[in-house]
Amino acid sequence: MEFINTFKLKKAITIKYLIALSLIAILSSVAFLVLQKVLKESENTAYLVNISGKQRMLSQHLALDMFKLYNLMYKNKNDGNQEIDTIRNLLTKNSKNMLESNEILSTGKSSDKIIYTLSTKFQDIYFGTTNLAQRVINYNKIVQIALDTKNEQDFLDALTSISNQSESILTDLNLAVLQYQVEGEAKIKQIKEIETFIWILTFFILLLEVLFIFRPMTKSIVELTISKNNILNSLQEEVNVRTLHLKKANKKLENLAYHDPLTGLRNRLTLENDLEQLLENYKKNNIHFSALVFDIDFFKNINDNYGHDMGDFILKEISLLFTKSFRQNDKIYRTGGEEFVILLNKISFENSLKIAQNTINLVANHDFINNETMIKTTVSCGLFHSSICEIDNFKNIIKFADIALYKAKNSGRNNVQIYQEEQNS
Ligand code: GH3
Ligand code: MG
Ligand code: MG
Repeated sequence: MEFINTFKLKKAITIKYLIALSLIAILSSVAFLVLQKVLKESENTAYLVNISGKQRMLSQHLALDMFKLYNLMYKNKNDGNQEIDTIRNLLTKNSKNMLESNEILSTGKSSDKIIYTLSTKFQDIYFGTTNLAQRVINYNKIVQIALDTKNEQDFLDALTSISNQSESILTDLNLAVLQYQVEGEAKIKQIKEIETFIWILTFFILLLEVLFIFRPMTKSIVELTISKNNILNSLQEEVNVRTLHLKKANKKLENLAYHDPLTGLRNRLTLENDLEQLLENYKKNNIHFSALVFDIDFFKNINDNYGHDMGDFILKEISLLFTKSFRQNDKIYRTGGEEFVILLNKISFENSLKIAQNTINLVANHDFINNETMIKTTVSCGLFHSSICEIDNFKNIIKFADIALYKAKNSGRNNVQIYQEEQNS
């Protein structure tokens, strides 16, 4: 369940992030396009202002050059044929330029490409009451007549006509230049306003993104991290709990492996480990020890006469008697059905014998009362002490104590017998 949430959260974050980035990308692209448009418009305005200004200048050049040409051709004859040619060429070139500019300005097209859409104001200037387009054409036709004619009167008429028109055409061309400036600037202003609007819009959308996308996204990321940490923590907790259970189970198993379930005393396996250490310690430090093997006398009869439960009770009661009467350092084991071993460390032979005898007496004098039934029982004991003989193998310790026990059983039970070396041979 936690993992599904994490996946959903990741998906939601990715989608939000993509939306935010797309919005920024779109706004940046629009801002870029508007900027391009501003630049193009500025370029166009500059171009139109430039050619309309040039046209204004050309109209005056044409009038002036026609006047110069008239003087050279008819007033100062043969004074400068070369100059006449130069001025004629200049007139031809300038007239051609003026007509080309007139074509561009009155159609808004340059090399068949629309660079400008004529406003109503321009429509009026070029084709309306002002009729500037046609007047420019006519103006240049007069120039052409002057260039073509060989007759002085015709030239003079043309010159007069040009002089008459030159002032008014200059005024109207000037009007056009100003109109280009005004309209161009207005257009740029408008686009700049759009740009400012886009800038404000971008800022506003960024603000909205921060509020509705990035802030919730950060929250989601924090949630994701917390949820991941929680998962890790709960996993860690589970591991801890399981480790604890495992430790307890191991402890139980260990307890089961090394202890007798009925009495809780150590078992034979533990005895073997301890004997090995005891023998090592004796050999190294010469610390004497003894092993007492106790076996309940005629135990089978108790089971037979009083039942198995009574038998178990006797076993537990004897284990309690032993635990209470022996020193803390003495180790008590239940090694078989009704057989107990006690290892006494740092002890003399005499004291071992005394303790063995006391234990036999303790059991013999004890009243075993179970469910209001009181019975008496005895134990026999086989004793081995480290001073009796040299031991190479720890297994021999119990073996020798068992031999002594066998002797005690044969000596009428309820007594202690000591292992002696000649018994083994
Ligand atoms: P002896 O004096 O020669 O030792 O005679 P015994 O009857 O004590 O010895 P024997 O070996 O003939 O019988 C031992 C009996 O102990 C047999 C078995 O049923 C009984 N026994 C072994 N373990 C348990 C136990 O855990 N609980 C009970 N109630 N009886 C057990
Ligand atoms: Mg026995
Ligand atoms: Mg017995």
